[in-house]
Amino acid sequence: MSQPARIIVVGSINMDLVFRTHQLPRPGETITGHSFQQVPGGKGANQAVAAARLGAQVSMVGRIGDDGFGRTLIDGLTEESIDTSFVKVTPNCSSGLAVIGVEDSGQNSITVIPGANGFVTPDDVIAAEELFQSADVLLVQFEIPLPAVQKAVELAHRYGVKIILDPAPSVRVVPADLLQVDVICPNETEAESLSGQVVDSIAMAMSAVQQIGSRGPQVSLITLGSQGVVVFDGKTSVHIPPFNVDAIDTTAAGDAFAAAFGIALAEQMSVSEATRFAAAAGALATTKHGAQPAMPTRDAVEALLRGR
Ligand code: ADP
Repeated sequence: MSQPARIIVVGSINMDLVFRTHQLPRPGETITGHSFQQVPGGKGANQAVAAARLGAQVSMVGRIGDDGFGRTLIDGLTEESIDTSFVKVTPNCSSGLAVIGVEDSGQNSITVIPGANGFVTPDDVIAAEELFQSADVLLVQFEIPLPAVQKAVELAHRYGVKIILDPAPSVRVVPADLLQVDVICPNETEAESLSGQVVDSIAMAMSAVQQIGSRGPQVSLITLGSQGVVVFDGKTSVHIPPFNVDAIDTTAAGDAFAAAFGIALAEQMSVSEATRFAAAAGALATTKHGAQPAMPTRDAVEALLRGR
């Protein structure tokens, strides 16, 4: 493919504030932790960074607050060559934050403050309409208000832009218009909420993915972490086993997966090629700590695919 894939991401931009401690504090308790790290995250921004590292030309639509985190987040996206002209600064508001406590045991506890992400509106998406006129693929998730996601999906349909919906985190009811997409890629928990079926085995996932696929998406996947992924193309469902990697942190594996599937679609790969490409990206994301720092490069994904 001579031209890079053109990708729009309409979604969240967060700073992850990660502290490590022997044990998480109980209510009312004060403890001393071992370390603190500030890591850029947010499903939208993670997918934007993953798409950029995989070789796409990426534009991000979203919001940050008028704080130092917001400036750092924009600088990080710009360093990845992501166009942030349609990321708005929301006055008197914090940027999206995730405060993540991790115990030595590996157990964690997470508080998400949506901040500016909670103020993304359909008008913000309309302001970015020109992007849709030339884009190949739209990536959307559920960390911003649904009306903004619905407007992005509507514009994508209008301009023939392919849509990848990562329905995360789970919402109580997914509006029917959001199921009319090219690709949907929930994980097990989100697939349970979407299908109303328990998804605790590959066999159950094969059944749930067909149920989800019967409601509108052209291609439906359920990502199963270290168990790989199941994919349904409207006719048959197939299980693709995981790539064998040394996983150390599964944060944002699903984001790498969704972004990679989007690029594969823009590059006209078949569904099975796209699923392998995305599974390789997801697997590599687990081999490094954090969200955006762990997003793999194109070379790394191709090397893993060749090695198989
Ligand atoms: P999410 O982060 O949304 O929960 P998953 O954990 O299911 O998503 O990961 C997305 C994809 O990344 C999986 O379908 C799989 O292909 C790959 N992946 C995730 N964890 C591993 C792992 N431990 N080993 C190999 N591949 C993995």
